[in-house]
Amino acid sequence: MQPSAHPSQPEAFRLWREAQDTQVRTRLGGVFYLLAWLLLWGFAGAPGQLLLAGILLSLLFAGLWLLRLLHRLPDAHDQASLRHWLDSHWRLIFATALAWGLTHAAALHLAVFADSRLIATLSTVAFSTAMAFNFAMRKRRAIIAMTLLYLPGLLVLWLNRAEQLASLVTLACYLGYLLLALSRSHREYHTTLDLELQLLEQQARLQQLSHSDSLTQLGNRHLFNNRFPQLLEQARRHLRPLSLVLLDLDFFKQVNDRHGHLTGDACLQCFADCLRRHFRRDNDLLLRLGGEEFAVLLPDTPLEQAVSQAEQLRQYLSSEGLQVHGQPLALTTSIGVGGYDPQQDDDAEAFFRRVDQALYAAKHNGRNCLARA
Ligand code: GH3
Ligand code: MG
Ligand code: MG
Repeated sequence: MQPSAHPSQPEAFRLWREAQDTQVRTRLGGVFYLLAWLLLWGFAGAPGQLLLAGILLSLLFAGLWLLRLLHRLPDAHDQASLRHWLDSHWRLIFATALAWGLTHAAALHLAVFADSRLIATLSTVAFSTAMAFNFAMRKRRAIIAMTLLYLPGLLVLWLNRAEQLASLVTLACYLGYLLLALSRSHREYHTTLDLELQLLEQQARLQQLSHSDSLTQLGNRHLFNNRFPQLLEQARRHLRPLSLVLLDLDFFKQVNDRHGHLTGDACLQCFADCLRRHFRRDNDLLLRLGGEEFAVLLPDTPLEQAVSQAEQLRQYLSSEGLQVHGQPLALTTSIGVGGYDPQQDDDAEAFFRRVDQALYAAKHNGRNCLARA
């Protein structure tokens, strides 16, 4: 299967999606703090008087924006890395919010900003609105950031409440509305995330269904057609062995004729269990290609090892048969085994044909035997 672009575990997926959203939204957001400061400074009564503060604050907001841009998501998708990334990114958001909150307070307090303080207040309103709607994934953190944006300005207004009562009340009321809006966006964000997760789970389940054989729960022909060329390509590129075992049950038609089709089905299921017991490595790919034909793809397995494993299975089946519905049932299988050889096998089809011919030879040699390709 192709490595997926996002984590498959639901909890890791949540964190990953949240981190992605946070990154995309802060990337753009950072520039507006710089812009707001430049406007506030530029339209102040005498910007020349504020040269040093102006440059320092421009550098500060530009630096914070740059840090946001440079703080890239980790390549690893494990929960610890994602959590760590989110924690440090939120520290950057808090730092920007505090820097702006203090700037707003200074603009309200210092006479030099009398002409442009409306810009500061409007920007504070805009930034906290953006916080409530765009960063609602973490409610507590968004409230902290909104407080850092708002509180310094509110404190200054409170200290000057004799003249600024109207602004103080208006801003406080708007903050109340924003907190309600934040709660709603928080719920909506997580509802959407839940839906996305459900969709992904259903997609994964459908893919699993489309790749597995419903009778035996082994991989099906579709999966074989997908994986076989991929594994062959990996083996070719990394110069690793790849073995293929093809199995065809002997005289299976007679099993159906004697015991009925249902017993035949149960027999196929028991044979699949037998395959699982004999090929146990995580990388072994067990498949039912159709009818009473099976395949095992063995990555990183040299031919001799594959032959020995397949021969053990054949001998076991030949001597023990299967226990179907608690009843012993004699059954044998013919087997073809081959190791991928880049010299002979131009592609997956050529390799398959070679092993299929070996299986045909095993049938021809009287069945219940193994032939090498
Ligand atoms: P050979 O040794 O030459 O392989 O003989 P065979 O009888 O196994 O081969 P043949 O191809 O003549 O018949 C395969 C039989 O497998 C015919 C079919 O009834 C049976 N079969 C295929 N799929 C299923 C299935 O899903 N369930 C059951 N019960 N039988 C199946
Ligand atoms: Mg057959
Ligand atoms: Mg058969």
